[in-house]
Amino acid sequence: MEKRAEKLLEHLGERLKFFSELGMEFISSSPSSEDSSYLSLKERIIQCQKCALSQRRKNAVPGEGNFGAELMFVGEAPGHDEDIQGRPFVGRAGQLLTKIINAMEFKREDVYITNVVKCRPPDNRNPHREEIEKCQKYLLEQLEMIKPRVIVTLGKVATDFFVRSNLGMTALRGNFYEFGDIQVMPTFHPSYIIRNEGNIKIKKMVWEDMKKVMAFLGKK
Ligand code: URA
Repeated sequence: MEKRAEKLLEHLGERLKFFSELGMEFISSSPSSEDSSYLSLKERIIQCQKCALSQRRKNAVPGEGNFGAELMFVGEAPGHDEDIQGRPFVGRAGQLLTKIINAMEFKREDVYITNVVKCRPPDNRNPHREEIEKCQKYLLEQLEMIKPRVIVTLGKVATDFFVRSNLGMTALRGNFYEFGDIQVMPTFHPSYIIRNEGNIKIKKMVWEDMKKVMAFLGKK
């Protein structure tokens, strides 16, 4: 078997093994917002002290949205505004994400939005590998509860979590990858679009990626 394929399987294996260790594959329906398993997950995230990021946070940011969502957006980690409000993607990048979601003919409340890491890294640096590893359990539990059909990964950190590859975002974006039975569509992070505001090509590429997601979900 090719080395890359082998690695991908190993990567998936680690995560899927995690589900079965939790016995979570037996959950057959998506929880409501009042579901005790979701509330307990949320509470565990809010109280988590597994890594040093917990020492400096104002608020952990578990995620929000529809627990029965077919579509999930996963970013990197909370920033300044998210840390203050305890909600994902509420700053400038978040406002752009909301516009993208609306352009896809969804409301924010229709989808689920979260991050790979649930606490803000200092100075908005990328989360470290150990921080991602400590936090990954929460994202995997969210996936198992919500069971989205599609995950849009926003930027490199989120994409690397689901897609094992040495390729950069420009090569990865716009194609679906399988993560178990979930389709993963990498696209550029909204902050990257903002940082390159004059570059129409980036906006166009993101929209092309989102149109593929819409088509997959039978939107157009
Ligand atoms: N950037 C992210 O990756 N996540 C957020 O929640 C906000 C900004």
